[in-house]
Formats: sequence, C-alpha cells, structure tokens
Amino acid sequence: METGKLFENVAFNLLKLAVIYLPDDVKQALKKAHEEETSDTGKTQLKTILDNIELAEKYQAPVCQDTGTLIFYVKAGAKAKDLDKVEEALINATIKATKEIPLRPNAVDPFTQKNSGDNTGRYIPYVNWEIVPGDKVELTVMTKGGGSENVCIGGMIVPGEGINGLKKFVVDAVIKAGAQPCPPNILGIAIGGGADISMRLAKRTLLKPLDEPNPDPAIAKLEKEIFEAVNMTGIGPMGLGGKTTILGVHIDYAFRHPASFPAAVAFNCWAARRASARINADGTVEYLTHKLKW
Ligand code: SF4
Repeated sequence: METGKLFENVAFNLLKLAVIYLPDDVKQALKKAHEEETSDTGKTQLKTILDNIELAEKYQAPVCQDTGTLIFYVKAGAKAKDLDKVEEALINATIKATKEIPLRPNAVDPFTQKNSGDNTGRYIPYVNWEIVPGDKVELTVMTKGGGSENVCIGGMIVPGEGINGLKKFVVDAVIKAGAQPCPPNILGIAIGGGADISMRLAKRTLLKPLDEPNPDPAIAKLEKEIFEAVNMTGIGPMGLGGKTTILGVHIDYAFRHPASFPAAVAFNCWAARRASARINADGTVEYLTHKLKW
C-alpha cells in the first residue's frame, strides 16, 4: 500500500479506537473509583459513566457526544520514509472519521464563528512532531474534550515558593474548575521551560497510562501527594460530591530560568481518549494502546 494511504488508514483506525474505547488503564481506574466511592451520588455518577462506556463499546458509538479537538503526536524516525505525507494523511483521516464514525464537527473559525464541518481548519488537527532515531513512525491521537480544555491553566509561581507554590496552584485550579471539566479528571502538570513549554509538557503527559507513576521517586511522591490533596476537595464525580475528583496525576518538567517558575495544569475529563500505533518500515502496523476489535 502507498505510504500516505497507510498513514491515513492507521490514523482513521486510531480515531475510531480512541473515541469508542477508553484505554484499559482509564477503565480500571473508573471501576476502582466506583468500588471505593463513599458518596451515594458520586457512586451513581460513576456507575452511569461505566454503563456509558459499556454501551459505547456495544453499539460502536463515541463514548461522549463531544468528540473533542483532534490532536496528533508523531514520533518520526529520522530514517522513516515519506514523512512529508503524514500531515496530509492526518487531515484526510480526520475528514473521513468525521463523516463515517461520525465525530462531532468541532473546528470553528474564531473570527467568523463558522464551523468547517469536518474537524479541520488552520492548525487543526494539531500535529506535534518529535524526531527520534530509527525508521519507524509512531502515531498517537488525543481527542480532547472542550469542557476539560476550558479549565486548563498556565501561570507563573513565585520562584521562592517552589513546590509548595505549585501544590497551591494546582489545588486552586481544581477548586476553581469545579464541575466544568466533567470530573473525575486526570491532571497533567508541568513546570519550568517557559509559559508555552510547560503547557505543552503538561498536555503531553496526559498520554501516559494512569498506572505509570513518574520514574523519579521524588516526583512520584509529589504526584501521590497532589492526588490525595485534590481528592480531599470533595468536588467528586461530575462535581456532585464525593471523594473521586481525579483519577490520576502526571508531572513533567523542564529546567527553568532562575527568575521564572512557569507552571501549567492540563485537565483531561473521564473520557480520556487516546490511541497509538507504530508503523514499521516494512509497512506492518502495531496498535499499542488497544487491541483491534474489528
Ligand atoms: S469534557 Fe469530556 S466528558 Fe465532558 S463533554 Fe467534553 S468530552 Fe465529554
């Protein structure tokens, strides 16, 4: 098969997998939260979410009506062929997926307010490129819900406040967000770099599975502390009260300017949709996050 078509087919499959089937780690975390939730209302909300997930799989329908803004992450092997065909393939896959799955058209011109109708437009779907050694291409899609995007926040901590300042920044962001991001959420947190770098890292870290704490024990400990602190807010599932406000926390960082302490919190909703595949140089494809079910 021609490489451009192969990229397009894989991207289409990833979009379909992502919007219908939540990754296993997210499903497991929601099941555990349902078992452990002590608020009756919170438990009912989690049961509804779990039923929703089951029905989406049964009827092959998107797990949420908001199929999000489409963001691709491409890890391109420096020796991979036909990389110039990737972006066009991702656009074609997006148009096809919008029509056939279908996806809700979510790409609006911010000046004219006109919806393109096919989930494409200037910089959308957004493509994050990373050049890596080798000859393989790894494609990942995140379909990012609007409700959880609306409360993502970037800011600057007073450098002298350090990590304590970060904890306050995160808890304040969650309290301010309340029910808006469709909790339970997953938090991607990043510090350092610059305003743009911390937000980019925060969002990218949402791609990590929930059962993968940071390999650095000190950062893993901070993830756990923030997880526990945020779940003490009592916001609960869908903001209706309970001990499950978030399902997990991932932290990433870059070194910072001595005078600056950028921080960012990216929220993902319970419909934390992501899917990845690796395309090998011989044209074979490995789906990394999901087992193909069709
Ligand atoms: S924020 Fe997430 S769960 Fe809420 S409506 Fe949007 S996609 Fe659906």
